[in-house]
Amino acid sequence: MGENLNIERLRASVTNEIDAQRHQLSELSLKIHANPELGFHEVKATAWLTQYLEENGFSIERGICELPTAFRGSYGQGKPTIAILAEYDALPGLGHACGHNLIAACAVGAAVASKLAIDQLGGSILVIGTPSEEIYGGKIIMADRGAFNNVDMAMMVHPWVYNTAATQGLAMQNLEVEFFGKAVHAAARPEAGINALEAMLNSFAAINSLRQHIKSTARIHGIITDGGQAASIVPTHSAANFMVRAEDDAYLDELKQKVLNCFIGAATASGARLEYKWDEVRCAPMRNNLTLARLFRQNMQSLGRRMPLFNPISAFGSTDMANVSQLVPGIHPLVAIAPKDVLVHSPQFAEVAASEAGIRGLVDAAKALAMTAVDLVANPEIAVKVKKEFKQNK
Ligand SMILES: [Zn+2]
Ligand SMILES: [Zn+2]
Repeated sequence: MGENLNIERLRASVTNEIDAQRHQLSELSLKIHANPELGFHEVKATAWLTQYLEENGFSIERGICELPTAFRGSYGQGKPTIAILAEYDALPGLGHACGHNLIAACAVGAAVASKLAIDQLGGSILVIGTPSEEIYGGKIIMADRGAFNNVDMAMMVHPWVYNTAATQGLAMQNLEVEFFGKAVHAAARPEAGINALEAMLNSFAAINSLRQHIKSTARIHGIITDGGQAASIVPTHSAANFMVRAEDDAYLDELKQKVLNCFIGAATASGARLEYKWDEVRCAPMRNNLTLARLFRQNMQSLGRRMPLFNPISAFGSTDMANVSQLVPGIHPLVAIAPKDVLVHSPQFAEVAASEAGIRGLVDAAKALAMTAVDLVANPEIAVKVKKEFKQNK
């Protein structure tokens, strides 16, 4: 009984702490928003975030995993080690149209408030600064380089257009393709040419046909990055960039071969030579830890925000957090900061990411993360349950 009271008091004090820091967190988030930096160039954001953590008693390691704009801030020594992940990269031409400025301020705010629980009950809290989510998938590199080796659970929250505690995240890999043809005058000697653009267009047609017969959760989409030089010259070179996504790794492998067959078929038909390269970076499917997701959901609901465990309209795409979730128990809940008709990665979403609704999302998410950290350090049996679920679902 006395213990429960103590936990309730701690939960109240971490949320009060975030209210007390609200102005600073909002300023931090707006500053990052006003200074958008692309993946692996997030120099200012990293400096501001680590400064805030340092001022609040965290020890900081900069440039971890040989990535200059990655960092780790830590507080406390004991177990469990709870990591809160921060993203802070912007999008080319659109600024913070994915709201990573809010993710960053939310992560440091939640971690600083969680100190109150660590001081009383032990455990440790980390902020892991993960650069370049958008362009490269920085967490995939960091996961490979051991950034999550001593972490017991990893959490982050992403602003979105609806609330959900568990997030769909598709396995995904990029494909670069090129066709090499033979240039001739398009009117004078067409019979001597090999048209690299037609090979590409036939590939698109084949993929469009294939799309009818794939699982409804899978996605294939691409753009042509080179379609020739002039209408009077038979295009000698064409290039495209494709993304292939599927719900699990096995189906992604199957689909990758089917997509590739479309290009191989078009090469055969046209006589153009095909060169292709699958990106070495591959997004894993998201593995939601439902014990953690339920805790987070409960804490969000205690703040008056309705949050389903799974949102039936859930369609998120892919995230490098999924690769982390394959290594340690993790969650990547989404918090609504805009109505459903606003598109993420649009100028409107960039606007919302600097609005009062955005800050409200940041503050609620930081409170729920900090309360979840309280739950985890206060109830060792919950931490055990989180790990047990993780092992069982492997
Ligand atoms: Zn994004
Ligand atoms: Zn994002």
